[in-house]
Amino acid sequence: MSFDIEKIRSDFPALQQKMRGGHELVYFDNAATSQKPKSVIEAECDFYSHDNANIHRSAHELSARSTSMYEAARDAVLKFFKAGPDYCAVFTRGATEALNLTAQSWGRKNICSGDEILLTQMEHHANIVPWQIIAIERGAKINVAKIGPDGSLDMDDFKSKLSGKTKIVSVAHASNVLGTVNDIAEIGRLAHEAGALFCVDAAQSAPHMIDGISSSQPDFLAVSAHKCYGPTGIGALLAKKEILDSMPPYQCGGDMIESVSWNGTTFRQSPERFEAGTPNIAGAIGFHAAIKYVNSLDKAALHEHESRLLERLTSRLSQISGLKIFGTAKDKISTVSFACEGIHPNDISTLLDAQGIAIRTGHHCAEPLMDTLGVKSTCRASLAFYNTTEEVDYFADTLEREIALLS
Ligand code: PMP
Repeated sequence: MSFDIEKIRSDFPALQQKMRGGHELVYFDNAATSQKPKSVIEAECDFYSHDNANIHRSAHELSARSTSMYEAARDAVLKFFKAGPDYCAVFTRGATEALNLTAQSWGRKNICSGDEILLTQMEHHANIVPWQIIAIERGAKINVAKIGPDGSLDMDDFKSKLSGKTKIVSVAHASNVLGTVNDIAEIGRLAHEAGALFCVDAAQSAPHMIDGISSSQPDFLAVSAHKCYGPTGIGALLAKKEILDSMPPYQCGGDMIESVSWNGTTFRQSPERFEAGTPNIAGAIGFHAAIKYVNSLDKAALHEHESRLLERLTSRLSQISGLKIFGTAKDKISTVSFACEGIHPNDISTLLDAQGIAIRTGHHCAEPLMDTLGVKSTCRASLAFYNTTEEVDYFADTLEREIALLS
């Protein structure tokens, strides 16, 4: 297999447009959400055009078709993340709902007064706030492992905060701000050795197809389809089935019960136990199409391409005077956060937008990390495999020119 960037770009309709002022779109906001290939858009459209019916309910042909497509999507998600036979995939709205499900269901049942939850300084709010709520409710303590000056996890600090009291370690596989890729195989090994469960927020690593998920043997793994070239409003919690079956329901309603009477209710096993109501069927089918699409690409070539883009972007930004990069760890996804001395990040983003370049500015839903970095917000350029060296150069040239004009 080879990596034909022009062919890949032609698969993404949104990349083919001109922006205000006639500028080509340079989409560098992939960590917020990625663009979608035609095959994903068409899969959803085809489903609604031919196969639409509710799942698991009716005995007619359409329902049989939509049920089998939905369940095929579930199998594809498990396979994509190389989950073993002891794992089960629960469809959720995204990584956020997957983490909330874990905290609200497993956490509320298993975390008690005096227990500890171990997070890191680089977590997204979605992997902080659900644990804070449970910690307050159950009288538990949250410990936070520090990051080093390059934005990598300080493993000595992590180890010093891990103990027999730690009930769960919940860590981002890749930081949405720093780009740091954590050694989750080692973190998972240490967590399990200490008797804790291990939860991985793979929202940012999954789009880059970073390996290591299966070797870390997470008890819980949260993903969002929309960052992985799939639709919005669908994601999954992959978890050990034995653990899921021991957890109480998180939301209740249709399709998740065994029987209901005025005397009480019994529940189905996972995954249905956690999929109350009509799920996002078309979304699951779109997610499956996204998986098929990325599986059709040469992953080694894709990694090499993204590494080259990251190297080029880092090197170009490093040469701009007054610009500071946050996060220079050895192992990174192609996401670069930066700030320019004396210029508000929003001004930079607005000026770039006028030239067709889409980046993100703000606290990136990681306010505690912003505090650690000593800033209120940063600019973030996040690249995907469909981005090009020419785009990186155009971005760096434009940024350099705009900064010079503002200084
Ligand atoms: N974790 C991380 C590291 C993220 O970057 C994000 C999305 N910005 C989330 C969790 C939440 O993902 P979603 O909004 O798709 O549920």
